[in-house]
Amino acid sequence: IEKQLRQSQKMEAIGTLAGGIAHDFNNILVPIIGYAEMALLQHVTSEKREKYIKEILKAATRAKELVHQIVTFSRQNECKKMPLKIQFIIKEALKLIISSLPATIKIIQNIDDNCGPVNAEPVQIHQIIMNLCTNAYHAMEKTGGKLEIGLSEIYMDNNRLNMESGIKEGTYLRLTVSDTGCGMDEKTMSRIFEPYFTTKEKGKGTGLGLAIIHGIVKSYNGDIRVYSEVQKGTTFQIYLPRIFSKEADKQIENNFLQTGSE
Ligand code: ADP
Repeated sequence: IEKQLRQSQKMEAIGTLAGGIAHDFNNILVPIIGYAEMALLQHVTSEKREKYIKEILKAATRAKELVHQIVTFSRQNECKKMPLKIQFIIKEALKLIISSLPATIKIIQNIDDNCGPVNAEPVQIHQIIMNLCTNAYHAMEKTGGKLEIGLSEIYMDNNRLNMESGIKEGTYLRLTVSDTGCGMDEKTMSRIFEPYFTTKEKGKGTGLGLAIIHGIVKSYNGDIRVYSEVQKGTTFQIYLPRIFSKEADKQIENNFLQTGSE
């Protein structure tokens, strides 16, 4: 029965996803077809024609991004996890983020190098950090602010676990991404993990970022917590179970060497 339930939930998710995709692609195809028809009219000036072609290019680029998001979304469960010290992945991702953020956003890193390993896939960890930081950036784009990224090991005992947690007592790595941006009201907050839910203007958000993160974290038997206040800021906490084993310790070095050279 449980298997059936899971299957039907999966089908439901696929249904929602397919509906969203159809809708999104339609929104992209309408301008492509429209501008292409206009560009082909006999008496258009070459200036106008160039403008139409640029619009087509813009829409097609967006379609490409969408496909990329969808592909990563649907591949979530096929990935190979390995014992990994995610602090190194996070630091690499942060280098990218730092170089692309404007000076109005101050970045504070609080990453404990001594954190133990988790069972994870490097690309997915990279994606989690990129998505969270992109959202934080969007929330502070107009005002500037502070982006804080933390990683530490934490023992979650019964006091720290709340009713909704869905995780067991034990040692976890806690990744915190905190911003001083626009924040969210409760209504927004209740929907953020839904695929295709976005409050961003057209072309800026796909609404898949947090749905992807949610899927990844759940498949790691981890947990996500969100704290937010309008006009004050938002904090995302991701909990991933730390693993303890000799076999893992041996593998980590290899994995790090492999992923480090990519
Ligand atoms: P997208 O970024 O494409 O909109 P996400 O799934 O990443 O999709 O986020 C969904 C929504 O959650 C965003 O549109 C925004 O309303 C809200 N959100 C996510 N992160 C933040 C944040 N750091 N501050 C304020 N709102 C946020």
